[in-house]
Amino acid sequence: MSLQTQNICILGATGSIGVNTLSVIDSNSDQYKVVALTANTNRQKLYQQCLKYRPAYAVMNDHQQAALLEKDLKKELGGHSIEVLSGQQGLEFVASLSSVDAVMCAIVGAAGLLPTLAAAKAGKKVLLANKEALVMSGALFMEEIRNNNASLIPIDSEHNAIFQCLPATHSDSLIRGTCSLSELGIEKILLTGSGGPFRTTAVEKLSEMTPQQACAHPNWTMGRKISVDSATMMNKGLEYIEARWLFSAAPEEIEIIIHPQSVVHSMVHYKDGSVLAQLGLPDMRTPIAHGLAYPDRISSEVKGVDFTELAQLTFEASDEQRFPSLRLAREALEAGGCAATVLNAANEVAVDSFLNEQIKFTDIVSIIEDTMAKMDITPADSITSIIDVDGWARRQAEQFVKRHQ
Ligand code: NAD
Ligand code: MG
Repeated sequence: MSLQTQNICILGATGSIGVNTLSVIDSNSDQYKVVALTANTNRQKLYQQCLKYRPAYAVMNDHQQAALLEKDLKKELGGHSIEVLSGQQGLEFVASLSSVDAVMCAIVGAAGLLPTLAAAKAGKKVLLANKEALVMSGALFMEEIRNNNASLIPIDSEHNAIFQCLPATHSDSLIRGTCSLSELGIEKILLTGSGGPFRTTAVEKLSEMTPQQACAHPNWTMGRKISVDSATMMNKGLEYIEARWLFSAAPEEIEIIIHPQSVVHSMVHYKDGSVLAQLGLPDMRTPIAHGLAYPDRISSEVKGVDFTELAQLTFEASDEQRFPSLRLAREALEAGGCAATVLNAANEVAVDSFLNEQIKFTDIVSIIEDTMAKMDITPADSITSIIDVDGWARRQAEQFVKRHQ
């Protein structure tokens, strides 16, 4: 076990994944040093985190909030203050600092794309929670990882589970695209999903569901955007696309299975009939601890599964009729080019409008479908074109939101 201290940058430190990451670091404080913390607008929380962890840098996406944070920190810490930066540039700067070993990429949504890419370009150990960044930039992102000798460890619990079930000697090669699932004797990967809070809700009642009901996930406590994604099952759709890129998987090599208890976090099906699964309580500190320490193991303070207490583990086929998001994600992958960028952008706009009570729950999927129906399939061959398509899709989706208001 290596005892060398790792220097960590946390992008999105004030969010659910960010806070869980700091909690794992608290339990292993001799092995990790926090060098940079970032947030969007939550100045109070970042201020408290700065006082506790004393990072060299703190970044706020919002320039005004950053100026206020700097003032507060100077007042409290005097001359030994923390350097405060702001905006996208500040985020990209800390993600690529030479003193940083690993970057926890935990900004929500497309806002995390450029800072996450900056970590890849700087050859960091990239701990990827921000699935939207990979969904948007797919092949290009994986290329940056390879070309800059960065390492990539999935933090999303399903992909982390799959990573753990791969042959240990080849998991890095698979992520680098130098071998394929079939060369490793893998027939398919089984992506599990709980089915979210509306798994058994009558389909005709779905249009009445409120943001509060959508955010009340039965097993996981998460940020609001991913909670709504779990309710529409677009989260599983995004994870399907995420798995395609992370593991160089063909669409037919990925199967989505509903597993309401969220104990089996995903599985790998080998051609000899063996199925390997990673199990654990639904607590993100486990994949975070795995990613931070990989290939070693550290404590996450999460208890193991008590099998004598588990009433049952059940599995069902996924249902594209009930959850059309799954079909839209599959269609986006089939369409190729920037289609997944369109899917992701329209989803972000629609989820935001739903959370602001501008549209109904069932309008989310209609808005994504209508936006995708208008798209041209442009190649996803540069960041500029991906960002352009993202902007186009947002504007389109906003038009559709107006029609539903
Ligand atoms: P969250 O909403 O709780 O936190 C988001 C973080 O991103 C906050 O720190 C916020 O300040 C920051 N942020 C938001 N917009 C920003 C912007 N424009 N610029 C800079 N920073 C910005 O979200 P979360 O639940 O922690 O999820 C973070 C990411 O991890 C998402 O991509 C999500 O899909 C993924 N993820 C989360 C979980 C979970 O359990 N929460 C599980 C798997 C994957
Ligand atoms: Mg997940």
